[in-house]
Amino acid sequence: MAEHPLADLRKKLKEENLLDKPTSKSWTKVIILFVIVFALCTIHLFLPLVFGLLLIPITALFATTLAMTGHEGVHSSACRSKLGNISLAAVVFPLFAGFSMEYWREKHNMKHHAQPNVVNKDPDIHSWPFTFSQEEYITSGPVRRFFQRNLQGWTFWPISLLVGHLMRLDGLKYIALKPFKSKKNKRITKVWLLDTSLILVHFALWIALPIFAGLSWQITLGFYALLWGLVGTFLTAIFIVGHAGRPIISEYDQNWRLQIETARRIKFGPIRFILFRWTRLPDRTPHAPSPLTLQPPKGSTTRQRVR
Ligand SMILES: [Zn+2]
Repeated sequence: MAEHPLADLRKKLKEENLLDKPTSKSWTKVIILFVIVFALCTIHLFLPLVFGLLLIPITALFATTLAMTGHEGVHSSACRSKLGNISLAAVVFPLFAGFSMEYWREKHNMKHHAQPNVVNKDPDIHSWPFTFSQEEYITSGPVRRFFQRNLQGWTFWPISLLVGHLMRLDGLKYIALKPFKSKKNKRITKVWLLDTSLILVHFALWIALPIFAGLSWQITLGFYALLWGLVGTFLTAIFIVGHAGRPIISEYDQNWRLQIETARRIKFGPIRFILFRWTRLPDRTPHAPSPLTLQPPKGSTTRQRVR
C-alpha cells in the first residue's frame, strides 16, 4: 500500500513533540475561565440594568471562550487520556453550555471534519433559510431565493443571536430521540446518561437556582437568553473565519487535499492572543486539527471543482 502523502510530515511533527496533548494547560484554562465567568455573573447580580447590559458582551465573550474548550475535549485533543477529554467536554458542553456533546461529536467531528465545505455533506455550510453556495441557491424555492438575494445580508448577524439557542435545542432533540434510533444494546449508553443528566443540571443551575434564590423569573430568563444569544453571535464570528471565502466543493478526489484546500491560515497580530490563545481556534488549518486525523486518500481520480 502506498504511504500516506502526509506520513512524513506526521512523523516529523511527532518527533518534535508537536502533537503532544496539553492536559494541564487545558484544565488550567478551563478553571481560569470558569472563575472569570462565575465572577462576571456574580457582578451582574449587583449591577443596575444599564451597566449590566454594557457588561454582558464581555461576559458572553468569556463564556464563548470557555464553551470553545469543549470543542477540544470532543476532538480528544485537550488531554492525553480518554477520561480526561470526556470529563473536560462534559464539564464544558452539557454542564456549562447545555450543549449535547454527542450531538456535537456527530455533527462536527464526523460530518463537518470528514468533508469540510462539501455541498450536501458538511452541515456547517447549510443553514436554512440562508445559502452559502450557488448550488444551494439554485435548489432553493422562489421565496427563499428572494430572502437570500435581498435579506440574507441584513438578517445574518441579528439571526446569529439564535445560533447558541438553536444548537442547544438541536442537541436536546438529538438526545431525546437517540434511544429510539439506536440499536437495542446501545439505547442508553454511559455517555448518553452523562450528557442528559448534565444538561438537566445546566438548566437547574442557570434557571431554577436563581429563581429559587429570589431573583425574578423575567431577569433570570432575560439574562440567560441574552447571554447565550451573544455567545451564538461570537460563535458565528468564529465559524465565519473558518468558512467564508473558502472554496465550496462539489467533488473531490483526495481527502487530505480537501482538508488543506478548505482550511485557512490567519494572521491577526497582537489580538491573536485573545482570539486564539483563548478560543484555541487553530490559526493554521481550521479543518485539520492535527495531521493524525486526516483520512487516507481515497485513490480515485474524480474531477475536483473548486470555486
Ligand atoms: Zn473541530
